Amino acid sequence: MQKENSQDLNILRHSASHILAQAVKRLFPQAKLGIGPSIKDGFYYDFDIDGELLSQNLPRIEEGMREIVKENLPFKKEKVSKSEAEYIFKGREEPYKLELLKEIEDDVVTLYSQGDFVDLCRGPHIENTGKVKFFTLLSVAGAYWKGKEGNPMLSRIYGTAFFTQDAVKQHLIILEEAKKRDHRRIGKDMHLFTISAQMGAGLAICYPRGAMLREILESFEKEEHLKRGYQLVWTPHISRSHLWEKSGHLDFYRENMYLFSVGKEEYVIKPMNCPGHILIYKSKIRSYRNLPIRFFELGTVYRREESGVLHGLLRLRGFTQDDAHIFCMPSQVVEEVRGVISFVLFMMNIFKLGYRVTLSTRPAKYIGSLASWDKATEALRNALREENLNFEVALGEGAFYGPKIDIQMEDALGRLWQGATIQVDFNLPERFNLTYVDSNGEKKQVVMIHRVVLGTIERFLGVLIEHLGGNFPLWLSPIQVRVLTVTEKEASYAQDICQQMRTEGIRAEVDVRNEMLGYKVRETELDRIPYMVILGKEEAKKKVLTVREKKGNNLKNVILEDFLQMLKDKVKQRE
Ligand SMILES: [Zn+2]
Ligand SMILES: [Zn+2]
Repeated sequence: MQKENSQDLNILRHSASHILAQAVKRLFPQAKLGIGPSIKDGFYYDFDIDGELLSQNLPRIEEGMREIVKENLPFKKEKVSKSEAEYIFKGREEPYKLELLKEIEDDVVTLYSQGDFVDLCRGPHIENTGKVKFFTLLSVAGAYWKGKEGNPMLSRIYGTAFFTQDAVKQHLIILEEAKKRDHRRIGKDMHLFTISAQMGAGLAICYPRGAMLREILESFEKEEHLKRGYQLVWTPHISRSHLWEKSGHLDFYRENMYLFSVGKEEYVIKPMNCPGHILIYKSKIRSYRNLPIRFFELGTVYRREESGVLHGLLRLRGFTQDDAHIFCMPSQVVEEVRGVISFVLFMMNIFKLGYRVTLSTRPAKYIGSLASWDKATEALRNALREENLNFEVALGEGAFYGPKIDIQMEDALGRLWQGATIQVDFNLPERFNLTYVDSNGEKKQVVMIHRVVLGTIERFLGVLIEHLGGNFPLWLSPIQVRVLTVTEKEASYAQDICQQMRTEGIRAEVDVRNEMLGYKVRETELDRIPYMVILGKEEAKKKVLTVREKKGNNLKNVILEDFLQMLKDKVKQRE
């Protein structure tokens, strides 16, 4: 799979989107054009036209694109005045292009045309349509104009293009596999979670098995944080908006926040955990001897996200961050960041995920002095070097308040997902006057590091489901063993075995229904439960178990104690 879009591939795909738009206009002149960028794995183009119509005609549209490719039309670039462009798009009856034109401040704009098709676009493109040889259209979906709810719903055609036919084929294979692993589908099959219209979009409900998965993950996280010198803290879900005014969030983050009033007072449902942790830091005078201080919270936060970006567990409006804030002296930053990096890599290794590291530097708009930016960026860079990590630099991609490291997770299909972030912050220590007393008895400003390791528990579960296809290892499985009876006669023996396993800390359940064994076995397989214990007449008489592994191997005449020991050993090894 293409891990990184080279500039060339982006240009190819973006050019393909123009060809797509031209093909649609040829077939459906009434379609109004939205926009058509290249994206991570391909491209899309938005049209104001009935989506059903596009869906039914996808093969015809693709055929039309192949025609245009055959015609080998040159992409022509032309600079025109804004009023001229307005004249052109008015004549073509393209209201969305006219709206885009209004937002452009420059007086001169660029148009690209191929044949009789014209688009408002900065470019660049390939020289002629004949160069787009290997492409395919994938699907049609609804998308609000500009991604904003309340705007007209347009129809978006997704497609992809590559430089070779093999790459297209490979991509289609991965898409097929990804469909099978879709965490929303597996989540439903395995009864893990749901997102219901009644609760609201972007708000996930965990069923018992999903809640158990969370619990396993969260306990593991707490344990690992405590081992590394973090302290657990807890902060309320709502707080006075005054606090968020002081932190600056009300200024620059307001549109992502849920606010409500109680009497005359305005309250906020927390979108982040930082201000709460700051209040804990400020609760007493801190000496250099006590630093670094590391506060950890599994903090559930709520953010207003446009409904168009919501996607299962991967993008929610309510989610739980494995969030910590490290307060340290400037001289401790490298060491602390190194500690976080090795923590993240430990986690990636546990879950057998790959990773990709990016360092994001100072953006055009920033706060704090140049010297402190340089120092912090250097500290992050040094930490990465000392950990011997390959990393990419994203120039100008840092937050306005400090540089950051992102460690994306790479799953079994080679897809990248947002994961860990390590961020140095100059803004909040200044706003809240966060200090420590140094060895000379002087007050100094402390450095604050925001960091998440897995990111959010929900998104991580979504990624993990897709990474493993729902086949969790024993230690993570919400149900580790299901006990199945062959006939009703073994019911009490089965109940007894199940209870003994539970007493020993094994997550077991029992199925004593009067159903065919084959049916119960298939159901257990669908639930992706690692072990089945099958109990019939023989087993009940000899007081033994028949254990069936996921791969279908049957182990006969197993003694309960031996089975329990094997399970415990595996869990300990995190198998
Ligand atoms: Zn273009
Ligand atoms: Zn934070």
